[in-house]
Amino acid sequence: MEEEGTKDEPLYFDLNTGANIPAVGLGTWKAPPGVVGQAVITAVKAGYRHIDCAPVYENEKEIGEALKELFSTGVVKRNEIWITSKLWCSDHAPGDVSKALSKSLEDLQLDYIDLYLIHWPFRTNPGTKGWAPEVMAPLSLQETWAAMEGLYASGQARAIGVSNFSTKKLQDLLLYAKIPPAVNQVECHPVWQQPGLQNLCNSTGVHLSAYSPLGSPGSWVKGQILKEPVLVEIAGKLNKTPAQVALRWGIQSRHSVLPKSVNESRIKENLSLFDWSIPSELFSKFSGIHQQRLLRGDFAIHESCSPYKSLDELWDGEI
Ligand code: NAP
Repeated sequence: MEEEGTKDEPLYFDLNTGANIPAVGLGTWKAPPGVVGQAVITAVKAGYRHIDCAPVYENEKEIGEALKELFSTGVVKRNEIWITSKLWCSDHAPGDVSKALSKSLEDLQLDYIDLYLIHWPFRTNPGTKGWAPEVMAPLSLQETWAAMEGLYASGQARAIGVSNFSTKKLQDLLLYAKIPPAVNQVECHPVWQQPGLQNLCNSTGVHLSAYSPLGSPGSWVKGQILKEPVLVEIAGKLNKTPAQVALRWGIQSRHSVLPKSVNESRIKENLSLFDWSIPSELFSKFSGIHQQRLLRGDFAIHESCSPYKSLDELWDGEI
């Protein structure tokens, strides 16, 4: 059962595993060393119950220290918090999948993960970093998914899923999966609303989790969605910030949202979403916003050696 917030929206969304994923998670990409641990502690003390991690963010160890402190001081119990991590591209070989999760669990100081995702539909050579042509390896999502299913069966990952999967890649996965993905974590915000993917998710019971819900203004992406006139207008009318309106749009669209912040007041602002809502006459204005994918994945397109020769192939036309 979904627990309801004060305006009929859930604080959690049901997954096809029977678990409930908290509607707001703290993003940790670009949360720097020496800062990320305190951000996690601040967020959990403010009420966050969901942290989105990945080994490629190179901060899981510090997050693990923060979690240990939160557990040992009784701020939160392990079973009251949702931790997501992701399988990096260089660990797609079936024999490496379990080792990669074990490393994340060791760094996070956990004995299970709530959700483990295939981070990107790419494969690179074991032990390499980045996406350069020379590290690209042939992709076999089917064999990688089978190894992910093994993690679910072992109980080390209580839910498994994917990230950066187009509608077509998700459809393909649903055909060969013995255990369907619980989540597809993708870029999603008012400027990239993903209606086709959302429809597939709705009809197949896969939950859509929204990354870069503020448009990633602090990364190289430098999205400007918080200046989008429709958001600014609605924020003014509701006496909220554009960031809150973007996040509230996500929750009302039934996505979990993963805003990243290392700033205490913005961490709190991004969770203040549950005693108000966007009324339908304003919600309908979102359909007029010009759509643009911000995290396009250009870095992994190589004519000669990538499984994808163009952005069109990576996103199966959703670009
Ligand atoms: P985001 O959450 O859209 O934006 C974060 C940026 O916005 C930071 O620079 C942050 O700065 C700033 N910010 C936060 N709250 C704000 C507010 N209320 N008002 C104004 N600015 C605010 O970007 P993101 O980090 O790209 O995405 C969120 C999370 O999604 C990531 O951290 C990661 O966990 C996940 N993600 C996953 C993938 C994937 O491939 N699966 C890709 C991208 C992201 P301060 O920190 O200074 O507040």
